[in-house]
Amino acid sequence: MKLQNKVALVTGGSRGIGAAISKALALEGAKVVFTYHSNPDSAQKVLDEIRINGGEGRIFQADASSFTDAQKTVDFVLSEFNALHILVNNAGITRDSLILRMSEEDWDEVINTNLKSVFNYSKAAIKPMINQREGKIINISSVVGIIGNAGQANYVAAKAGVIGLTKTLAREFASRNINVNAIAPGYIETDMTAKLTDTQKQAILNLIPLKRIGKPEEIAKAVVFLASDDANYITGQVLCVDGGMVM
Ligand code: NAP
Repeated sequence: MKLQNKVALVTGGSRGIGAAISKALALEGAKVVFTYHSNPDSAQKVLDEIRINGGEGRIFQADASSFTDAQKTVDFVLSEFNALHILVNNAGITRDSLILRMSEEDWDEVINTNLKSVFNYSKAAIKPMINQREGKIINISSVVGIIGNAGQANYVAAKAGVIGLTKTLAREFASRNINVNAIAPGYIETDMTAKLTDTQKQAILNLIPLKRIGKPEEIAKAVVFLASDDANYITGQVLCVDGGMVM
């Protein structure tokens, strides 16, 4: 197992990509704390699955857009497991519309949940990582943060911001043995993409050279790699896991 004796924190682990990441990290031996926002039942199911497979985990309710909640989450991780080696900033939402129709609330909610959350959790997690002299931070961005997308100005701005923040944190903390990387998923089958119309789905599929939708587990595998010692010489990078959409 690649992550034996490591402690991991995943934001938004109750569903979709975050649930797959939490389960994959636990299967590799990490003790995993994951947060949820509004779905305690889904979170409990993910935790049950981790435990059935012999893993160790905890769940914690927190709003990723709140710095106070982020600090409380990190304090909880440290009180439960006395360390924090891996942080995965995954929590995210969409509130799509063309910018002329986009409300200020929708802009703020997406920026706070998808971008400010990465600031919140990274700031709270970096102190224990510095004390331990090691850490891995993996931020879930999106291919649209690289290429843009009509109808998602708030989401794209947040995901592009996550890439800039990733590179800056990588530079600020490389000397502390903390690696910071981003993953840019393409089109992955989760509740988030279930909202798309068939026409929208077909239009996206036409852009994917591998001609299929990705699975949450395929993002989780990339997270496990970046969280492991196999990736010790990689920092400040954006890994697209997207069937070749962006190249
Ligand atoms: P999802 O199925 O909608 O799941 C979102 C997760 O985020 C849930 O666990 C949810 O918790 C949590 N969450 C939402 N708001 C939160 C908040 N304020 N505080 C804490 N947790 C919160 O989404 P997904 O498709 O798995 O997406 C996961 C990440 O991948 C997101 O950052 C997304 O932008 C990114 N991504 C997804 C795709 C894709 O095609 N699916 C592509 C590129 C990037 P509750 O269930 O408790 O509400």
